[in-house]
Amino acid sequence: MKPRLGQHFLIDQHILERIVRYADLNISDTVLEIGGGNGILTRKLAEVAGHVVTIELDRDLADRLTLMTRDTNVVVIQGDALKVELPYFNKIVANLPYQISSEITFKLLGAGFEYAVLMYQLEFAKRMLAAPGTADYSRLSVTAQYHANIEMLEIVPPSAFKPQPRVRSAILKLTPREAPYQVNDLDFFNGLLKAVFGQRRKMLKNSITAAAPMLGIPIGNISRLEENVLRRRPETLTPQELAGLSNIIMDGT
Ligand code: SAM
Repeated sequence: MKPRLGQHFLIDQHILERIVRYADLNISDTVLEIGGGNGILTRKLAEVAGHVVTIELDRDLADRLTLMTRDTNVVVIQGDALKVELPYFNKIVANLPYQISSEITFKLLGAGFEYAVLMYQLEFAKRMLAAPGTADYSRLSVTAQYHANIEMLEIVPPSAFKPQPRVRSAILKLTPREAPYQVNDLDFFNGLLKAVFGQRRKMLKNSITAAAPMLGIPIGNISRLEENVLRRRPETLTPQELAGLSNIIMDGT
């Protein structure tokens, strides 16, 4: 077991079956799994999907998976899911290695898919789902919800895994869709979110002014924002309001 690779293997058969049921797979699906591990989920997915591609970083586990799934509808890619070129897939089902949650989620969202059923650490899942005005509302909430509709499917206790993690987990369903608001420059929006949520106790006026040189915002553009907005803290603004603010100070639209 290599703890730094997030190797907590699912042992609860009921949860395993529910994950596969949530994914609602059929023969026309090509499912991507990140972190095949000992193959417990891989094999279940292979029973219902047309094709399964699993990416596993640990060479020993990947070799074992390759042997185990020889002459089946499973393809094993040994490598780092953050680095490999992703193959074709239309759905994703995975019990993610938690240390790559953020990076792999945005890589997958960038690749596009119908929907994903993913296990995350509960705290991370809460931040992805969080609504404005709550303690968990963060840059992650805004950026994840920009790309996808996110639903909580269930909370999973540590006892569902071996070895047991110290924290609870959660299964989420991510369904990519067009954001219900316009962002004129996504890179700029991301930079702005990083700046304002990095200083979440500060009024927007102060965090934006401090980050202005780094973000390339002419100081004059900040005065385009209404004073009562500038006095607010970032966690009180909806994603749509934050996007509006980004569009105004970026290009005045
Ligand atoms: N699928 C199995 C299950 O459900 O029990 C294992 C899940 S375990 C939480 C995560 C797996 O991801 C481990 O097998 C680990 O070796 C693998 N892993 C860790 N980092 C990875 C990476 N960057 N790319 C691909 N696999 C990775």
